[in-house]
Amino acid sequence: MDKKLLTPGPLTTSMSTKEAMLHDWGSRDQKFIDLNQSIRDSLIKLIDGEGNYQCVPMQGSGTFAVESMISSLTPKDANILILINGAYGQRMKKMCAYLNRSAIDYEVAEHEPHDMKKLEEIIDANKQLTHVFAVYCETTSGILNPINDIANVVKKKNLSLFIDAMSAFGALPLSSKDVTFDAVAASSNKCLEGVPGVGFILMKNDVIEKAKGNCHSLSLDLYDQWTAMEKNKQWRFTPPTHVLAAFNQAIDEHQKEGGIEGRHKRYKNNCKIICDGMKEIGFEQLLPDELQAPIIITFKQPSDLNFNFQKFYNALSDKDFLIYPGKLTVADTFRIGCIGNLNDQDMKDTLTAIKEVISDLKISL
Ligand SMILES: *Cc1c(COP(=O)(O)O)cnc(C)c1O
Repeated sequence: MDKKLLTPGPLTTSMSTKEAMLHDWGSRDQKFIDLNQSIRDSLIKLIDGEGNYQCVPMQGSGTFAVESMISSLTPKDANILILINGAYGQRMKKMCAYLNRSAIDYEVAEHEPHDMKKLEEIIDANKQLTHVFAVYCETTSGILNPINDIANVVKKKNLSLFIDAMSAFGALPLSSKDVTFDAVAASSNKCLEGVPGVGFILMKNDVIEKAKGNCHSLSLDLYDQWTAMEKNKQWRFTPPTHVLAAFNQAIDEHQKEGGIEGRHKRYKNNCKIICDGMKEIGFEQLLPDELQAPIIITFKQPSDLNFNFQKFYNALSDKDFLIYPGKLTVADTFRIGCIGNLNDQDMKDTLTAIKEVISDLKISL
């Protein structure tokens, strides 16, 4: 039995998803080509993007997908506004610096959402802007950013919206019929419950069609990856075959669970059990419930000197539960993920283990 991963990816996957990796696939073989096409089609369906969007997979972790999205789909003279309230917004800013894309940012604290009026004002005051980048669920804190409101403002101002929906895709609603966006990036190993190794970018047809020559890098060039894959349905370079086979199985299981709605329901229930249970034990949650996405929950570290994160982590790990360190700059915290192939019983077992550890380590709350 593996330990339960209460982390935002890699996360606990189903046995059948792991088993899908027990085969060797020829990357130029029809069976694999069909599998790859089926993944791309399914991902487009998840945003109701049939006919209007393309899906281009990209090898690597989620960061590779985000970087390929930015470098390939923005022209070299783009002017970008980045909405930042955590490490992943910061990472996009860093990418823009690496990629020599002009960018300004609107940053708020990690436990706060952006103000939509202020967003409008910033756009009005910066007529050169062409793009806005936003993070859907900022995994740093677990905050749910108001993507619909952001998209409405960006649409009203006629700018192009790119979304990092890494930790939201597949569990939080993102229909292109409701939310206007030009591109979104996510990966296999978060709410779709695949194994790590591949990301994907969904973009409007005309966005990829006019993307030739934007990218500084051959391996990250989505236009090149797309044109090659459109030509013969194959990958340009060695595809992560086993990862894709597992991803295909994971997407199948996502559908069987009832798609985004079904997955959201389970995660929301997981989240509620953890939040209620931790409160009962005496922990303080960083975010108010209305800002908390059902993905990962940040808790403040207790002030009792007996609390040491590494000891707490190790003791929980000995009981086969892996939690996540905090990533906040403003406070000492730790995080508990509620995504992955985990159910209500797993959440209850986690709480039981936490109670035992608190008692063993003599931490008073
Ligand atoms: C996980 C994640 C990423 C990508 O991280 P990798 O470690 O490269 O997979 C990007 N953005 C957000 C919001 C994430 O949660």
